[in-house]
Amino acid sequence: MNPFLEAQYHRLGISKEVLSYGEKIEEKLKNRFAEIDARAEYNQLKVIEAMQKNRVNAECFHISTGYGYNDLGRDTLERVYADCFCGEDALVRPQITCGTHALALALMSNLRPGDELLSPVGKPYDTLEEVIGIRPSKGSLAEYGIGYRQVELLPDGSFDYEGIRQAIHENTRMVTIQRSKGYAARPTLSVAKIGELISFIKTIKPDVICMVDNCYGEFVEEKEPLEAGADLIVGSLIKNPGGGLAPIGGYLAGKKECVENAAYRLTSPGLGKEVGASLGVIQSFYQGLFLAPSVVSGALKGAIFAANIYEPLGFATMPDSVESRHDIIQAITFGQKEAMIAFCEGIQSAAPVDSYVTPEPWAMPGYDSDVIMAAGAFVQGSSIELSADGPVKPPYAVYFQGGLTWYHAKLGILSSLQKLYERNLVNIDKV
Ligand SMILES: *Cc1c(COP(=O)(O)O)cnc(C)c1O
Repeated sequence: MNPFLEAQYHRLGISKEVLSYGEKIEEKLKNRFAEIDARAEYNQLKVIEAMQKNRVNAECFHISTGYGYNDLGRDTLERVYADCFCGEDALVRPQITCGTHALALALMSNLRPGDELLSPVGKPYDTLEEVIGIRPSKGSLAEYGIGYRQVELLPDGSFDYEGIRQAIHENTRMVTIQRSKGYAARPTLSVAKIGELISFIKTIKPDVICMVDNCYGEFVEEKEPLEAGADLIVGSLIKNPGGGLAPIGGYLAGKKECVENAAYRLTSPGLGKEVGASLGVIQSFYQGLFLAPSVVSGALKGAIFAANIYEPLGFATMPDSVESRHDIIQAITFGQKEAMIAFCEGIQSAAPVDSYVTPEPWAMPGYDSDVIMAAGAFVQGSSIELSADGPVKPPYAVYFQGGLTWYHAKLGILSSLQKLYERNLVNIDKV
């Protein structure tokens, strides 16, 4: 290793032993990293093509206020998103406060009383339980007379086609498919798999709206779900497509009618996409989207590096060290509290922001055990930035994601290993 680099790692607290273990692992990942780089290159060109086609220019970065009529930057960005993700239209707004809000908007605007929503991939993301009304909640779809059904995945993670066929009936208006596993113990779905599921559903009921929760999936593959037959994709700008620069926001892209419905719900019937000042954040949306393919590639390398670092040390990893990747999340099961906490402390200590604070388990609202979180982010709660969290209870699993650059993700993982090594919780000399 370059001596300047080695000395710098030592100054940041990484010992010779941990560094040389990390180097051995990284060496083995050369081919996989090259594949990720090639995919990022493809996606970078895709983003540039969409920006060129829509003649993005300096006027797009002007600040609009008040009603935001004729906001060229906002309207052009929405066409860029639509082209980039292969949709007819898109809604990309700072007024969409987070991913849950974007998903709620998509559902509430496209469903009407008496309709039913189906999840054919098991339980959706925690926050959607309240949106749907699985857990009773003010303003839920259930309160508006919208029904819900769920079909579990089969034990091997595949689709229960027979169960899905039986769950679709006259009132089934919309299907929600979560691409990423989130905090569930099931595999993340590839775009190809999502495509198979959608074709099956459309043969049973062609007019059902297939929505994909695309959180954490953008730019991980060459194709996005709209290219596999989805009608609507939905995500958060403080995850992949914001590229770490967007300070807030969410997006929907897909069929014109579905996006329009969402616009009329976000603002008002009659107003739709015509209002909504961008207040100066729109340039960060453009620049973030421009950087997103590279940022996602760094985060993916970090996730793969982490799996390859921890698996040989005896910890269960999901996805495992060799599996193909369809989102940026990495779960590592430590099996003991001390190791889990040491891991999170290491991630925190490597951050550019708040590196000096020590993450502590705390009783977060809505959880039945303490939760520990590590994050030293420029944007609060941003999970495209290097972050880790998990409930402090058996099996002591940590969910780890992000990293605006591969170098930072690597430092974070080495720092986590350093903490475990110093506390005698791993034996790296044996491997
Ligand atoms: C993050 C996430 C959400 C919710 O997004 P928030 O921005 O946290 O509200 C929904 N679904 C999935 C799969 C996610 O990863």
